[in-house]
Amino acid sequence: MTNEQHSEGFNFNTIAQHGGQEIDEVTRSRAVPIYQTTSYGFNSTEHAASLFQMQEEGYIYSRNANPTNRVFEKRLAELEGGADAFAVSSGQSAITIALLTLAKVGDEIIATNALYGGTYTLLADTFKRFGVTVRFVDGRNFTEIANAITDKTKAIYTETIGNPGLQIADIKALSKLAHAHDLPLVVDSTFTTPYLQKPISFGADIVVHSTTKFIGGHGTSIGGIIVEAGNFAWDNGRFPEFTEPVAALNNQSYVELSAASAFIAKARFDLGQNLGTALSPFNGWLFIQGLESLPLRMKQHVANAKEVASFLAEHEQVTWVNYPSLKDDPQYELAKTYLPKGVGSIFTFGIKGGLEAAKKFIASVKLFSHVANVGDSKSLVIHPASTTHARLSEEEQRLTGVTPEQIRISIGLEDIEDIKADINQALIASKQENVF
Ligand SMILES: *Cc1c(COP(=O)(O)O)cnc(C)c1O
Repeated sequence: MTNEQHSEGFNFNTIAQHGGQEIDEVTRSRAVPIYQTTSYGFNSTEHAASLFQMQEEGYIYSRNANPTNRVFEKRLAELEGGADAFAVSSGQSAITIALLTLAKVGDEIIATNALYGGTYTLLADTFKRFGVTVRFVDGRNFTEIANAITDKTKAIYTETIGNPGLQIADIKALSKLAHAHDLPLVVDSTFTTPYLQKPISFGADIVVHSTTKFIGGHGTSIGGIIVEAGNFAWDNGRFPEFTEPVAALNNQSYVELSAASAFIAKARFDLGQNLGTALSPFNGWLFIQGLESLPLRMKQHVANAKEVASFLAEHEQVTWVNYPSLKDDPQYELAKTYLPKGVGSIFTFGIKGGLEAAKKFIASVKLFSHVANVGDSKSLVIHPASTTHARLSEEEQRLTGVTPEQIRISIGLEDIEDIKADINQALIASKQENVF
């Protein structure tokens, strides 16, 4: 490769190292530099005007684009097989911007109900206050989903692996249904990352990530990203905001401006710009480091998780293990289709003795950290019913797949013997009285 590190046509590991970067002519810096700057010099008033109207590529102000983040965006878009991406300050802002780029007051969104707790609250409460109605459906009941679609529907939303019940989305079937109604399928792929699954290859139109998790990989930075596949027909009549002329864009529409990435252009220059959810370039730089080691880390996360799942399945203190790669799991076939490399390293199990035993288990682990996070290089544990999903009523909890005896673990990159030994001692402690 020469100056221009074009990684088109390369395979996953190569793209993870090189995608989106062109070596800077002046400094020849091999690593992607951190452009810790708010603004960028214009060559002339004409140049400035052209940038403001998006008539040429370039940088104005880091609220809407930054060169470090641009490498991260292009690299992740390439890893996902998408046309373009927009990096933002958190997973929550990625979901907010992605969905509100499609739906405005009076519109509707259909969402599968096994969702991350924060997403559920965002869609059920915050979006409601914005006048956007979210209809929650069972992600496996295609009749129910089809019946929920109205003239006002703007998107179908799901997670690749539902949180924390691990419901695997049938993305091919969901995208077929969405496309039959001229709707885009929006998928949260935080738990899978492009290493385990590329939702676009199964028909998804927009992919969002909380890069806070596996993509960052070390539990250091909050961030999110939105990826557009690039082949959705925004001019199908359901999305007039994509085809109407925009005064600020020299009276072009977003579709005229950029047919393959009209959605990302609108997300960036409409809500991204106006809500001010910019990603700090330093965090963007950390996510680039994360992408470079993502393939190796994911491989080890999955290897460790598979071994822990089998170990738990055999343990007398455990009533059930929800890890769909296990042979007798009801989702085994779906897992084979959508997650042939493994279902990741976040999963749940039920502990003998219910709620009380679950609390004792969490009080007894030594290597595992009791935190509200997943996808860290360190092993993590939480009790969803009393924490991440505590704001939900018991009925809502059951709908999202949360039960009192359920423990969620996120298996890290420690030695497998140490991980198993810690779980074993905590399981033994969980059946004893008075561990507190
Ligand atoms: C963490 C998470 C989010 C929210 O992301 P933040 O970066 O914490 O804002 C959304 N979806 C899923 C599946 C998550 O795990």
